[in-house]
Amino acid sequence: MNLPFLDLKAAYLELQSEIDAAIKRVLESGWYILGEEVEAFEQEYAAYCEAKHCVGVANGLDALHLALLAMEVGAGDEVIVPSNTYIATWLAVSQCGATPIPVEPDAVTYNIDPARIEAAITPRTKVILPVHLYGQPADMDLIFTIARKHGLKVLEDGAQAHGARYKGKRLGAHGNVVAWSFYPGKNLGAYGDGGAITTDDQVIADRIRVLRNYGSRVKYVNDVRGFNSRLDTLQAAILRVKLQHLDRWNDARRKIAAQYLVGLAGIGLTIPFVPDWAEPVWHLFVVRSKAREQFQRQLNKAGIGTLIHYPIPPHLQGAYADLGFGKGAFPIAEKIHGEVLSLPMFPGMTLEQTNHVIVACREAQVVAE
Ligand SMILES: *Cc1c(COP(=O)(O)O)cnc(C)c1O
Repeated sequence: MNLPFLDLKAAYLELQSEIDAAIKRVLESGWYILGEEVEAFEQEYAAYCEAKHCVGVANGLDALHLALLAMEVGAGDEVIVPSNTYIATWLAVSQCGATPIPVEPDAVTYNIDPARIEAAITPRTKVILPVHLYGQPADMDLIFTIARKHGLKVLEDGAQAHGARYKGKRLGAHGNVVAWSFYPGKNLGAYGDGGAITTDDQVIADRIRVLRNYGSRVKYVNDVRGFNSRLDTLQAAILRVKLQHLDRWNDARRKIAAQYLVGLAGIGLTIPFVPDWAEPVWHLFVVRSKAREQFQRQLNKAGIGTLIHYPIPPHLQGAYADLGFGKGAFPIAEKIHGEVLSLPMFPGMTLEQTNHVIVACREAQVVAE
């Protein structure tokens, strides 16, 4: 049995007629930038997230960047970010001229450790930027409490967590600003780039709406130096179709994760831990192996596709060499990056395929150890 890490085409084939119809509708409308499709998606996604506003933008990185700008983050400011994340979270801060201040994750949940945040706050800190990594919500109440105490804003990176719940409420429903990516492989993915911000804050939403469209509220009148970062109209139409299936797809991911959690327990792999207040959406199913290279090679031999999210933490990337963090600066993030492996996880995976991965993991563990 050959099983790819991810099968994006399967979701298209499943919804082909609906998606083709949506694309045709846009092509035949003669309206290709912003317009009704984007507005309709924004309303539908805001409703899904139980947020008051949604603004569509070109991608997840722009969603983070424009949200930070709307929160008035600029040169000389500091933003607290996880040391354990995809580099986009850091880059968005740098794009504002601000400095990302990394905070180590909790070694069990892999998300930013709220207990370490206060030590990183300085008079220059403006925003705390937690990431809901792998689709698991970060511990937001602790983060909100710290933010309130120090007069800081909070921006959530929800790029991997569409539909996840924290203490019963969806991410996006906590009255806060959340940045989303619709990169094709995300739980809600377009067929190209896409992103959005949801928030209950009218001022923030309005600023982002202006920033994404050349700083203009009225055509050819430019109030601020903005960007071209609009959610593509075709992608908005596609996302409207896929949004209707998101909960069903997330349920399918949950079933696969439940099967993995049982099948992979007690064989020497570190499997994900879910706090009782978290309802993750399993963007990735990440295990840790002390002998990752061998473990991955064995799975590969068994025809199973796996990926590493992520092989190099942001602080050790050439892009951030100037911050001067060497090896050992963030040991928890480094340890996680050195051991993680993501197993196949997509809604169309069958019980049999999941079982095949479990059997192969058990065998690979014996060889790797
Ligand atoms: C995918 C991702 C992003 C960036 O999204 P793009 O749409 O690719 O720009 C940001 N943060 C995290 C955690 C991501 O996984």
